[in-house]
Parts: sequence; C-alpha cells; structure tokens
Amino acid sequence: MDLKIGVIKGDGIGPEIVAEAMKVLNKVGDTYGHTIEYTQLLMGGASIDVNGTPLTDETVALARASGAVLMGSIGGDAKTSPWYKLEPSKRPEAGLLKIRKELGLFANLRPAVLYDELRGACPLKEEITEGGFDMMIMRELTGGLYFGERRTVEENGVMTAYDSLTYNENEIRRIAKRGFDIAMKRRKKVTSVDKANVLDSSRLWRKVVEEVAAGYPEVALEHMLVDNCAMQLVKDPKQFDVILTENMFGDILSDEASMVTGSIGMLASASLNETKFGLYEPSGGSAPDIAGKGIANPIATILSAAMMLRFSFDLDREAQAIEAAVERALAEGYRTIDIMSEGKKQVGTEEMGDLIARYIG
Ligand code: NAD
Repeated sequence: MDLKIGVIKGDGIGPEIVAEAMKVLNKVGDTYGHTIEYTQLLMGGASIDVNGTPLTDETVALARASGAVLMGSIGGDAKTSPWYKLEPSKRPEAGLLKIRKELGLFANLRPAVLYDELRGACPLKEEITEGGFDMMIMRELTGGLYFGERRTVEENGVMTAYDSLTYNENEIRRIAKRGFDIAMKRRKKVTSVDKANVLDSSRLWRKVVEEVAAGYPEVALEHMLVDNCAMQLVKDPKQFDVILTENMFGDILSDEASMVTGSIGMLASASLNETKFGLYEPSGGSAPDIAGKGIANPIATILSAAMMLRFSFDLDREAQAIEAAVERALAEGYRTIDIMSEGKKQVGTEEMGDLIARYIG
C-alpha cells in the first residue's frame, strides 16, 4: 500500500517524538511492504517563525491531500515565548483550532490504556487495576455547549449568563456511527454516556444512538448517566470498551480516564472527520521544560501512529505490531524518565524509538 502521510513536527518536544514515530512507521513499511510518502507541514510556533501565522491555507490544502496527518505538539512556554506576545488569533494554538475546523474533525478519540507493566503509576487500588484496562473515549468535538449560543446580560439589575447546549440528530448520528465502527474493531461494546434524566439534548442523543445501534447487531450497547460514569471510571474501569459521549462530558471524562492511567507520555489521540482522514497526536503538549534534552517519552506519538494505521489506512495487523512492540519494550523493563521506577532500565527518546522499531515484525 502507498501511504501519504502529512507530518507536523511542531514545537518543543514535537520534532523529537515525531522522529521516533517515523522511525517505527518506516520499519513497519519495510516489514510489511508499504511505501510511505511524508509531506512535512508547518504549524504552530514553527509556522509563525517562517510564515508569520500559525497555519497557512497552503498547509491546510496539503494536509487535506494526505491520507492522514501525524502531529507532535505545538506551543511554547506562555511566560517566555515571543509567540504569546501576539494576539490570540495569531498564537500557536490558533493553528490547531483552524485545522480542526477546516478539516471538519468532529470525532475525538482518546484511548486510556493501563499496561500491566505500568500499574505502579496508576493511582487506583491494586485489586481494581489488576490485569490493566483498555478503553477508548469517543468525544464529539464540534457541537454542544462549547459551540452553542452564549451571552451575558443584566436582567432586572442581576447579571445573568446563558450558554446553550444544542445537538441535531445528524451530528449525533455521525459520531455514533463512528463509535460503533470503532467498537467493531475492538471488544464490541459501546457505553453511551448522557444525562437523559434531565437534558433534552441527551434524550435525543439516546434515541439516535439506539437507531444507529440497530445497524450493528454484533455490538452491545449500554446507556450510562454521566455522573455514574465518572464514578465507574475509578471504581471499575475494566468494564469499558468504547465510551461514546458529547463534547463537554467527553472533555471531562477523557481527562479523568487519562489520569487513572498515570502517565501523559503514554496517551495517544486522534481526531477524525467523515472520511478516513484523521489527525493523530499525543494527548500531551509540547513540554517546553524538557524539549531538546532527548528524554521525552515518544510512546504516545508511536501509539498515535498505530491508531493512524488502524483507522485511516485499515492496517490492523500493522497497528497491532506497533502495540505489541511497545508492550515488549515495557515488559523488558525499558522506561523513559517519566515512567521510570526502581529496578527498570532508563532510556532516552531515541533509544526507546530504536527498541520499539527493532521489535516490529
Ligand atoms: P505539557 O503536556 O506540554 O506538559 C505537562 C507536563 O508533562 C510537563 O512536565 C512535561 O514535561 C510532561 N510531558 C508532556 N509530554 C511528555 C512526554 N512525551 N514525555 C515526558 N514528559 C512529558 O502541558 P503544558 O506544559 O501545559 O503545555 C506546554 C505547551 O503545550 C503549551 O504551549 C500548550 O498550549 C501546548 N499544548 C499543546 C497541545 C497540542 O499540541 N495538542 C496540547 C496540550 C498543550
């Protein structure tokens, strides 16, 4: 297969961690007979330095022409970087908002995986985490409360603020379909999270999710209220496969789920649109505090590349090979500094990438 991949190295640790993901992808290409064509794209601070703007229209067009985009992270230290003296619409993060909007990336996927090897980093009790857990949070990204009408007015001398939570059935249907498609590639269970005992938008959510579920007879669907889900994530995280939810609930639950895994350097993510296209990036930021030191954990970016192979190119076997290689590196005791524990072997960014690439195939 011929893979066309746009690459946004970005700022801070971005170039270091993306280099390792490309190393692993190249090994996958050699092992399984795929040709990979990379197009380097500038976004964030790196683009401001060259083009005076965090994302040009030409870059958007190049991203659109790729099968998928692999990204490091963008941004700098807000206190010291000159990028943050610019007006908000010209700062690095504006590039990310623009690319999401231009490419219609409405579905955000965040896996929360606790590897048995890293159980020590998990704040939950041992009996809860035994055997690890592996869930995927699917969050609607372009609707709901964060995009609804809002205003603050004075009414009868009292300041009053309004935020509206709106979803139409089409917005719900497209994310639900994506959620069920992804469940079909996993353990075939969807937990749809809402607040249907109170909110109209949640009652419509539930109805449309049930309609979509009828087209996926192999997938088990359950509904869960968001307050219960927040509790279940810390009480029994093993019960979840795909959690499907709207924008604000997903924002909160995905952060909660990532905290229970214990390490930001391990967390991959993807944002998808209606086609096979996706933007794949680690959940963490550009970590300016450790940039250039060769110590950043590249695993989140490497696992994001695995997600890219699975969801944008349908290369499940190759994605699994990457995940197995990551697990082997961990099982053999190799750790970057952020996940280091007693008795393990500390390695830098490049060495971790070398090990994972070596374990492919
Ligand atoms: P951060 O995620 O960059 O860093 C938080 C902490 O986690 C730091 O101590 C950092 O060293 C550590 N860390 C993060 N990734 C790591 C890795 N791969 N290996 C080891 N340690 C890692 O968050 P922050 O400091 O709040 O933000 C820094 C910059 O990143 C800001 O400019 C912010 O806007 C930007 N940011 C970008 C994205 C993105 O590109 N999608 C996401 C979040 C933050």
